[in-house]
Amino acid sequence: MQAATARIVLITGANKGIGFEIARQLGRTGAEALIGARSVALGEAAAAKLKAEGVSTRFIRLEVRDPETIVAAAALIEVEYGRLDVLINNAGIADRADGPPSRTSVDAVRRIFETNVFGALAVAQTMLPLLKKSAAGRIVNVSSGLGSLAHNADPAWEFAPVKLFGYNASKAALNMLTVQLAAELKDSGVKVNSVDPGFTATDLNAHRGRQTIAQGAEAAIRFALLPDDGPSGGFFSASGREPW
Ligand code: NAP
Repeated sequence: MQAATARIVLITGANKGIGFEIARQLGRTGAEALIGARSVALGEAAAAKLKAEGVSTRFIRLEVRDPETIVAAAALIEVEYGRLDVLINNAGIADRADGPPSRTSVDAVRRIFETNVFGALAVAQTMLPLLKKSAAGRIVNVSSGLGSLAHNADPAWEFAPVKLFGYNASKAALNMLTVQLAAELKDSGVKVNSVDPGFTATDLNAHRGRQTIAQGAEAAIRFALLPDDGPSGGFFSASGREPW
């Protein structure tokens, strides 16, 4: 086991997009950035890129729909580091067959929930014993403004026309995980928050997002590094608290 004084941070879906940028920026703070990725080739390439930038990192295979990979990842972290300081549940998908409730594909909704909700839940459950061994455990659930019931109910909200039932509901369910897990863990020192990256140019939206990836990573990084007097059980963007 390594005598790690650096923060040990696991980011799911970190081979590209916002997750990769979170890994890079947390790595630059001196953290050990564990790149969770489902593809060995893409995960190793991402880790090699960060290593070339001087970041202490390693690839860990993690397909969030496959419990065996989650259990194996936890076992590896236990052996190598003995604890986990930060879990960033970032892996997420949208689905072309998703749409408004009257037209969305039920199968697409199931597919989205498998990754965005059940995957995040399974990873959080499996990593929890390691997070409890940290002096300052943090779980950051990468949600979306599209998961806000309040925003969805407001016809004046700028993204009100984006009624993707499966995606939006998956992020609302992820927010419920944040609220309930934070309540369960309130006396444990482990803080759980949801963050909204904002509309960010990545493969997820065919790079239509208006923010840079660095801007999209900002809120997750802040909540990964949250001090002990910071909040738990909240929903935040880079500009402040978001409505549920
Ligand atoms: P992205 O570039 O498409 O990255 C998504 C990442 O998740 C990829 O690394 C992908 O791996 C991984 N992933 C997907 N399914 C997975 C699975 N079953 N197991 C493990 N990894 C999986 O998208 P992004 O925009 O960076 O999205 C990151 C997070 O931000 C998502 O949760 C998304 O919902 C959220 N978000 C994004 C925006 C935005 O505007 N971009 C806004 C709000 C919220 P592969 O490369 O193998 O597919």
